[in-house]
Amino acid sequence: MRVPFLSFAHGNRLIREEILKSFETFFDEGWYILGNRLKQFEEEYSAFNKVAHTVGVSNGLDALHIALRALKIGEGDEVIVPSNTYIATALAVSYVGATPVFAEPNLQTFNIDPANIEAAITSRTKAIMPVHLYGQCCNMKAIMAIAETYNLYVVEDNAQAQGAAFNGKPAGSWGHINGTSFYPGKNLGALGDAGAVTTNDELLAQKAVVLRNYGSQKKYFNETIGFNMRLDECQAGFLSVKLKYLPEWTEMRQQIAVWYNNELKDIQEVVLPYVAPGATHVYHLYVIRTAARDALQQHLSNAGIGTLIHYPIPPHLQKAYQSLDFQKGDFPIAEEIANTCLSLPLWIGMTQQDVGLVAQEIKSFFGR
Ligand SMILES: *Cc1c(COP(=O)(O)O)cnc(C)c1O
Repeated sequence: MRVPFLSFAHGNRLIREEILKSFETFFDEGWYILGNRLKQFEEEYSAFNKVAHTVGVSNGLDALHIALRALKIGEGDEVIVPSNTYIATALAVSYVGATPVFAEPNLQTFNIDPANIEAAITSRTKAIMPVHLYGQCCNMKAIMAIAETYNLYVVEDNAQAQGAAFNGKPAGSWGHINGTSFYPGKNLGALGDAGAVTTNDELLAQKAVVLRNYGSQKKYFNETIGFNMRLDECQAGFLSVKLKYLPEWTEMRQQIAVWYNNELKDIQEVVLPYVAPGATHVYHLYVIRTAARDALQQHLSNAGIGTLIHYPIPPHLQKAYQSLDFQKGDFPIAEEIANTCLSLPLWIGMTQQDVGLVAQEIKSFFGR
């Protein structure tokens, strides 16, 4: 591989000593679950995300699941999700027995289109789950206004956009209760699975705390049918180390995106990422679109450049959701994105020269 799609090597070198130190004290202290490290990370993440409460949980999917359960969304309810999201958003809705209702994104931003949200609202709709896809914050002002008009909850899926914002207000701080993921490849990644619920509502935070730990606040007193969905102390310590680097690493991601934009701007066959007014983009992924996607991906692979497709099959066409009975063509924008999008390499430590190599191969593919 000349340029892998993702590499942790450089970032890990920068934090190696601090991570090993964190592990050493964790190991020597011998407290593994629900301790001071989690409490500390939750406080740090709340300060970073400008929310009153962070509840660390096992992963991003569980965070979204707990968020919906805390809102008492369930059987017979509908929740509006983007038609082009990662399957986890829809799965969380299914877990609580509600129905995911897909609304199409804007083709430029890849984010759910507020106009399409409004069109999808029925008497059963309980919540909207915007996803800040690829790292760009949705137009949360418009989405919160719709929610207010129709008396709906908002649950942000902030798995991909830690550090992004709309009108200066952070992703993950707008909704009534929100979920984020610290999966290793996310902008803030643990060294394993982890996630968090974020909210400004103390009661909802308390519900999440109870749900993640067997429905219990006091040991052996179980108030509700809860789960074992905790974030463990070891990962919490690692996340505290990595959170310190996140602002700097976000700037690196944005710099890499600028390099790509400059290199690729004259190739008419390629649509570059578009950042909407008011939004910031933290480039969890740098996603281009082109009609020649499959051939381009093959060309890059042959040239030793790793790419991925996020995501090749939209949720409505997944076998898992065949019971919803959708057909090809039902969500044409999501399908167009699935057929034309390509995520280029982007990782901490990638140099302008690496970007140049990728760009050179894309240019040569298009005969420049
Ligand atoms: C990664 C991701 C999730 C799920 O997070 P996990 O930690 O892998 O469970 C949910 N939604 C989106 C948009 C994601 O990218």
